Amino acid sequence: MRIATITNWAYGATVCLTIASGIVMLMASNADNVERQAVKQRQQFDQLTEDIETDAWMLSDLARLFVINKAPDVLAEYRQKEGTLKNIEHRLEQLKDNGASGEELALLHDGLKIIDELQDEQQAALAGMARGEEQQAVALLYGPGYEQELERAQKQIDHFRQLLDKRIIADVHAATKTSKALRSASEVMVCLTALLFLFLMGFILKRRVLHPVVRLSDVVHRLASQDYAVEPPNFNQIDEIGDMAQAIRIFRENGLARQRLEKERDADWAIRELLARMTQRLQGCENVADVINVAELFAPNIAPGVSGRLYILDRDAWEMRCAAEWLSPEGEKTVFHPDECWAIRRGQSHPPVNGKPDIGCYHLPESQTHRSLCVPLIAQGEAIGLLSFLNITPETAPSRAYLELLAEALGLALANQRLRDALLEKALFDPLTGLRNRHHLEDTLRTQMAQAMRNDEPVSCLMIDIDHFKSINDRFGHEAGDRVIKSVAAIIQRAVHDNGLAFRYGGEEFLALLTGADEVAAHACATEIYNGVHELSLRYGISEIGPVDVSIGIASYPQHAQSDNLLRAADVALYRAKELGRSRIVSFGMLEAG
Ligand code: GH3
Ligand code: MG
Ligand code: MG
Repeated sequence: MRIATITNWAYGATVCLTIASGIVMLMASNADNVERQAVKQRQQFDQLTEDIETDAWMLSDLARLFVINKAPDVLAEYRQKEGTLKNIEHRLEQLKDNGASGEELALLHDGLKIIDELQDEQQAALAGMARGEEQQAVALLYGPGYEQELERAQKQIDHFRQLLDKRIIADVHAATKTSKALRSASEVMVCLTALLFLFLMGFILKRRVLHPVVRLSDVVHRLASQDYAVEPPNFNQIDEIGDMAQAIRIFRENGLARQRLEKERDADWAIRELLARMTQRLQGCENVADVINVAELFAPNIAPGVSGRLYILDRDAWEMRCAAEWLSPEGEKTVFHPDECWAIRRGQSHPPVNGKPDIGCYHLPESQTHRSLCVPLIAQGEAIGLLSFLNITPETAPSRAYLELLAEALGLALANQRLRDALLEKALFDPLTGLRNRHHLEDTLRTQMAQAMRNDEPVSCLMIDIDHFKSINDRFGHEAGDRVIKSVAAIIQRAVHDNGLAFRYGGEEFLALLTGADEVAAHACATEIYNGVHELSLRYGISEIGPVDVSIGIASYPQHAQSDNLLRAADVALYRAKELGRSRIVSFGMLEAG
């Protein structure tokens, strides 16, 4: 019930009770009046009865006195009194007017009738006196008959008095009782009004208003300081407090929704920032391993709680190989054919919508088919890898767009690395022989020498040149010349093997840097090369190219040269080998000795 309704009802009840209490008070006062009137009536009846009695007895006494002393003034007084005495009806009329009942009046009437008869006897006695019959007059007024009549009259009047007293006492008692009852009723009503007022104060103000308002005020205060964890009281009553509680609940729900949106927006910003940072880091990657490291680090932060794997397509074996994984994904790091993934087949994220029935990728564990997302890494329209996310739930997964952006950035980075590797290979390696070209020789030499000096190790350099190569070109053509160059390069690469690095230094000139090799070791390597080339038997078409020889110059650090002139020393040795008639090995040490 609404507070206003309760208040109105209570107010109405209070007014009704107050009016009722007023009326009862008036009735009580009326009962008092009745009581007072009854007492007054009794006094009046007493007075009237007294008068009748006094008059009757006075007449009787005067008549009796006269018959004894025969005094004329007594007779005169008797006559005067008799004259003033009203008749019975008149006297009864007066009592009737004052409220005497029929029974009472009948009693009094009988009494008055006896008094009248006594008066008649008095008249008879007085008449007898006038006739001189004094004896008879005395006998009449003092006789037992007269005495009995007097007593009867007295009795009748006493009876009348008793009846009157009884009735008046009963009236007074009833009036007192009524007055008391009405006063009690009035007091009860006043108490009820007071109790109602107290109830209004206590229940409505304290329980229904004050308590809820204090609680709601506390909630509003906490909501104002954006503490949406506060639980608004559940006042379901249909009243103003209930309305306020409902309004506060709606306010809190709006606040929570706003807070959630803000959180989502902040999380969105955080993911975008992470994606931007990851893209920057990917741009700085120097090789695929860097890209894998970046993916391993950023993926679990961009999609917290979502485990996953990064697969890279091995073009030679034509299979997807797991390059990285994060947050311990279910299943093994198995290699699989690209066709086992629907995302790779379709060239799009799979499944397109999470939670809807769709075919699962075959490379995923059975339990993950409906909780996974595969995003292909596409570069130049071709799938070069795959991001496979597992344990996707609506709560943990960020927007699918972010996962696709992540895949796009990784795909681009991997494609860049591939391009970079291809360019680097082109820049560093000679396409004909597969050996390093001389562009990076300077850097490599500096690094190797620094390492050798640090480790106090020797480094040797072999400078190798094919003898009379021009004539091979001239006789068999360039293609045949290329084949010779390739064959010699393969022999050099084989001889150098893990002991150093082989370079194509120029057209038909080669260079080998042998780390940790002194002059003797270098000579052994040079001899292996020399013999290998010498034993070559090359054909071009139907013609035999004939024997191929090389001249080799050797210089060793720190025996023959320092770091800055090692190449030059080897070149000098080679020059000397050419001078000495080619097809030989000359060490810089031999020059110094010679
Ligand atoms: P020497 O014994 O003094 O070294 O004589 P040579 O003929 O080997 O040396 P020369 O410098 O006179 O000639 C080198 C020739 O190698 C000249 C050039 O046409 C040829 N040549 C350089 N690069 C290539 C190449 O990549 N392929 C082929 N087929 N020939 C090349
Ligand atoms: Mg040459
Ligand atoms: Mg040559």
